[in-house]
Amino acid sequence: MNGYWGSAIILLAAQWILSENHSTLSPDFYESTFELRYLVSDFIIFLFLIISEILLRTRPRHVEKIVLVCGFSVSYLAFYILFPFLNGAEIVLILPILLSLVYFSWSALYSSGLLSLLFLCLAYLFIRPDNLGVDWFGFIMAAIYITLVILIGRAILARSQELRKNMESLVKSEQKLIVEKAISDKLIKMDALTGLYNHKTFHEYLENLILHCETNGVSLHLALIDIDNFKKVNDTYGHWVGDIVLKDAAGCITELLNPNNFAARYGGEEFAVIFTDTTAEEAAEQAEQIRMKIESLPLSHSREQPVTVSIGVCTYQPGNGKELLFRNTDNALYTAKRTGKNRVIFHQLAE
Ligand code: GH3
Ligand code: MG
Ligand code: MG
Repeated sequence: MNGYWGSAIILLAAQWILSENHSTLSPDFYESTFELRYLVSDFIIFLFLIISEILLRTRPRHVEKIVLVCGFSVSYLAFYILFPFLNGAEIVLILPILLSLVYFSWSALYSSGLLSLLFLCLAYLFIRPDNLGVDWFGFIMAAIYITLVILIGRAILARSQELRKNMESLVKSEQKLIVEKAISDKLIKMDALTGLYNHKTFHEYLENLILHCETNGVSLHLALIDIDNFKKVNDTYGHWVGDIVLKDAAGCITELLNPNNFAARYGGEEFAVIFTDTTAEEAAEQAEQIRMKIESLPLSHSREQPVTVSIGVCTYQPGNGKELLFRNTDNALYTAKRTGKNRVIFHQLAE
């Protein structure tokens, strides 16, 4: 729109210069047409610009149409004012065609091209003063130029469409790659049977958290959860029932997780949960909830005994390091097993 306003102002200046220098045309013709065109066309141009500015603010969804229609109107009116007072005014008829290329619009290209040719015919037939006659050479040259610009516009649009298609397929394949990478990243990090994080991811996460804990003093507690007498489940009901029990137990743990917790399948029938940003009492309480939830799993697949777990919990003491944290938690778990299973033992209590 700034460009249009600039063009309209330049057009006013051009009219002023033309009005001072119209020696090639008969004074009669100038008197009868030029003054009137000044007034009417300038008025319409500025009216169009103002209406377009208002529409752009009130109908932002139709920006493209508003800018195109405004551009077409300003260009054709400018041509109407300048022709035939300015040699080469026909060049203005190319502007709407170029404008349609800005929006990559085939319909705008063809309609602007046809309109430009139509305006050219009308101008040569009806606007030129009688004493000058029809300038057939000028008309044919201008028509050829406009047609050439339409053809070049066609080629530009076809090429841009091709480029756009290439871009789209590139973007699509990039998106596909991102999704595939996200899936493979997830698969690398997850345990296939339970859907929990795997051993490797767990250690990476714990190491990061320990660093965080050392520098920022964030509280950190580790729980090791081991299914009781799991070998017996396998031996009695088969491995496939054992797998279902593993999945169900993992489901219980996942259900009780909150955003500050992180759970992983540590090994065969062992799980590990990290509690952060919580007190030791709350961590022990959450471990107890996990134990109770697993114990209350409904019996299925002819299994007669409830699934129970033993849990060892330990708070990370800054400076202790990962190995000591594990050793202490493992000791707590061992105490839980030794003292009857199906219980939560907190490390301090175990000592
Ligand atoms: P405790 O109460 O002392 O923990 O005894 P437990 O029988 O649970 O422990 P043990 O270490 O003797 O046996 C663990 C069993 O878990 C042995 C192994 O076959 C089984 N196991 C490990 N991974 C899987 C698995 O992915 N699926 C199944 N079904 N069984 C598994
Ligand atoms: Mg075990
Ligand atoms: Mg076990």
